[in-house]
Amino acid sequence: MNSETRSREEVLCEDVLREEICRVGQSLHIRGYVHATAGNISVRLKDGFLITPTDACLGTLDPARLARMDAQGLQTGGDRASKTLALHRQIYAADAQARCIIHSHSTHSVALTLQGVWSDDDIVPPITPYFVMKVGHVPLIPYHRPGDPQVALQVAARITAMAGKGTPLRAVMLDRLGPVAWPRRGQRGARGTGRNRAPVVAVQAGSSGAERSPDRRVAAPLRRHLVAGAQAHRHTAAIDGPRPVKRWRSRSAPVWPINQD
Ligand SMILES: [Zn+2]
Repeated sequence: MNSETRSREEVLCEDVLREEICRVGQSLHIRGYVHATAGNISVRLKDGFLITPTDACLGTLDPARLARMDAQGLQTGGDRASKTLALHRQIYAADAQARCIIHSHSTHSVALTLQGVWSDDDIVPPITPYFVMKVGHVPLIPYHRPGDPQVALQVAARITAMAGKGTPLRAVMLDRLGPVAWPRRGQRGARGTGRNRAPVVAVQAGSSGAERSPDRRVAAPLRRHLVAGAQAHRHTAAIDGPRPVKRWRSRSAPVWPINQD
């Protein structure tokens, strides 16, 4: 569907969404949650989706140069799409309620995956009620090079499996790469000002170090809990009821190829 066959409302809506991607990208960059050309953002459209270009800095995005994909996932405009395109496409295909997707390389989140997550199904224990309510289950997706289609397939499989259990995912953690989070229809989105802060919480769970003081106040006790391990949380109500406490494992970090979004 091109601009001639789209209604004026759809074109206006797309213009607003383009501006919003740039606003959110700049906001994440200013606050230190993304750096250099790491991270990417996409937004679902009626007939496809918009996604940030490959090697683009989220702090200086140009609305007119965002990559536009059609319903089949083929690029119809803008600069060359992020190499994580397949991942975004699979998430939109697997979760019809997914409205937009944010991926960052948040420092603390990456450090957590290096240290060893709580379990492959939940990277951290149900530490606070808000984590349970606003974020929910965040599984770990095993490491593959950025853009590897295997990641997209594994994330889609996780989404389908969790939806089947009645606990739809809103985020996953890519091993050694960082979080991917998406708000679902009927929930407030990427601004994180409403009922659903999942995308923002998941993306901000670890930042590049320039976080504002309120985040630091939250991060300090959170980090203490993380380091203390799951043992300290055995009395915390688990997301799905009691579960065996598992010590976080530590893993050696192998050398892997440097790649960009
Ligand atoms: Zn990435």
